[in-house]
Amino acid sequence: MFDSLGAVTELPWPTPASGGLFELGRRVAGRGEYRGLTFHEVEAKTILNHVPWDRFGFNWTINPYRGCSHACVYCFARPTHEYLGFDIGSDFETQIVVKINAVELVRAETEPGRWAGELIAMGTNTDPYQPAEGKYRLTRGVLEVLVERSNPFSILTKSTLALRDLDLFVEAAKRTEISVNFSIGTLDPEVWKLTEPGTPHPRRRVEAVARLTEAGVPSSVLVAPIIPGLSDRPDQIAAVEEACREAGAQSVSRIMLHLRPGVKQHFMSWLAMKRPDLVPEYEKLYRDRAYLSNPKRRRSPYRREPKPPEKKPVQTSLPFG
Ligand code: SF4
Repeated sequence: MFDSLGAVTELPWPTPASGGLFELGRRVAGRGEYRGLTFHEVEAKTILNHVPWDRFGFNWTINPYRGCSHACVYCFARPTHEYLGFDIGSDFETQIVVKINAVELVRAETEPGRWAGELIAMGTNTDPYQPAEGKYRLTRGVLEVLVERSNPFSILTKSTLALRDLDLFVEAAKRTEISVNFSIGTLDPEVWKLTEPGTPHPRRRVEAVARLTEAGVPSSVLVAPIIPGLSDRPDQIAAVEEACREAGAQSVSRIMLHLRPGVKQHFMSWLAMKRPDLVPEYEKLYRDRAYLSNPKRRRSPYRREPKPPEKKPVQTSLPFG
């Protein structure tokens, strides 16, 4: 995969990523722009994951990667790395599991006659356009199959790498229902650098929404997560919402930071190092709950404005990413 860069180091197998979930595999140490990352190339047994409820508007997901070098400190997916024998901190950010047979599997599992053509969501666990996708191109391969079969899909990402696949999105939007959605929690450069160090600048994500919209590809934004004490001032939230509406986002929704077990411990350790002044407030806010239940407290001025006309998005995807 990395021959063009000459950036491959073979490492011995097995790795913790075997875990019974995957077959075969090898570890590849990244170099150059991938320095510091280790890719665990595995063959997954299946690629379509059934979600046994539809409160998010879909029942099927595909995640070609596990782990994510976008390294968002609040990432809800961190604990899933523990199932593979990794830790939820630096391992989640650097030990990336790559399902190298994802395209072959999606082609087999969505064969006409076998598959009902339901909407498939990507970006529900880890980011399908994280840096690894720049070389492995699995998300693109999966999309090529879905477009060929006119299968509806939605994507949630923080990466402008999605624009690489604009040609596929344009073609897909002509054939079926799709949406390419962005998570943009803040436009504040300090908060961005502090909390999402591996992601593209949020202004570039807003520009990506505009590019998609201009090309006729439906795109919505989750202002997520809104982080108490860091990105929850009304003017901060209003800035994101205004920019995204100007960019043509079909809908702009807010999600407050949630801290479930595992992520909560990781986040609070980080907070104690970076912003110890906020720890007492967080201990109160999240003492006995993972989700903040009082969104009115953080209502934006936009709530008082007449609602602009919105096309209904295909689905809103999961409240994270
Ligand atoms: S929140 Fe999304 S982009 Fe950030 S590390 Fe997790 S999966 Fe990656």
